[in-house]
Amino acid sequence: SDHDLKYPVSPADMDWTQHYPAFAEAHDDDTGVSRKISKQVSVADIGCGFGGLLFALSPKLPDSLILGLEIRTSVTEFVQEKVKALRKQHEGIEAGDAAVPSIASRAAPFQNVSCLRANTMKFLPNLFLKAQLSSIFLCFPDPHFKTRKHKQRIVSTSLASEYAFVMRPGGKIYTITDVEDLHLWMVEHLAAHPSFDRVSDEEVEGDVCVAVMRTETEEGKKVERNGGTKHVAVFRRLPDPEWV
Ligand code: SAM
Repeated sequence: SDHDLKYPVSPADMDWTQHYPAFAEAHDDDTGVSRKISKQVSVADIGCGFGGLLFALSPKLPDSLILGLEIRTSVTEFVQEKVKALRKQHEGIEAGDAAVPSIASRAAPFQNVSCLRANTMKFLPNLFLKAQLSSIFLCFPDPHFKTRKHKQRIVSTSLASEYAFVMRPGGKIYTITDVEDLHLWMVEHLAAHPSFDRVSDEEVEGDVCVAVMRTETEEGKKVERNGGTKHVAVFRRLPDPEWV
């Protein structure tokens, strides 16, 4: 059950410095603590499971703060512990290419990933501001096969509107599943939504995030071992129409 979950009243109430301490801004002289973060989370992995995608994306997107959202307590804790362990293991290591002068917006490896326990079907706009996210990943979501369970799928017309709200124009929503029926369902709902436009196959194939999503998620690996098919669809957040 998710009844014990607490959500911030608004994104301004989220203390992201607990998740990304390396990106905390200078300490407050009076209190000695800082609750201000130097950059916003811009990549969200919805239903991140054991975090395979997060850990693979971390070095590929060193300038982005990446957040996994997961409803299961023990799985969330597993990812949080793994983040801690990887950060410790890489302590003191400079991020990026040593030949490039260090960039203030970068930190040591794995400082840019974290995991939060949340039911993403509720309160997503409590966590993220309008137009905050540049990428959302929906990797191998639970299929909910039965028709009466379809309302529990993480893509629907109203959830597409929530994703659109928290995404910036030009941002991308990435979907992958081995269940063809779910693939068609996600494509149907996102394609019908006025805020999204499907990305061409050529662009999809050239996108490094798609390659990572195919090979690095736990489910993606399982499907690979079982010789299943991985259906990918990517959608771009369109600019809002201008009202005159
Ligand atoms: N994305 C991972 C992967 O590809 O390996 C995990 C896929 S797993 C089949 C689906 C995950 O979504 C599970 O870990 C489940 O607990 C999580 N989940 C399901 N409904 C959710 C919700 N409403 N909010 C957050 N996470 C959810």
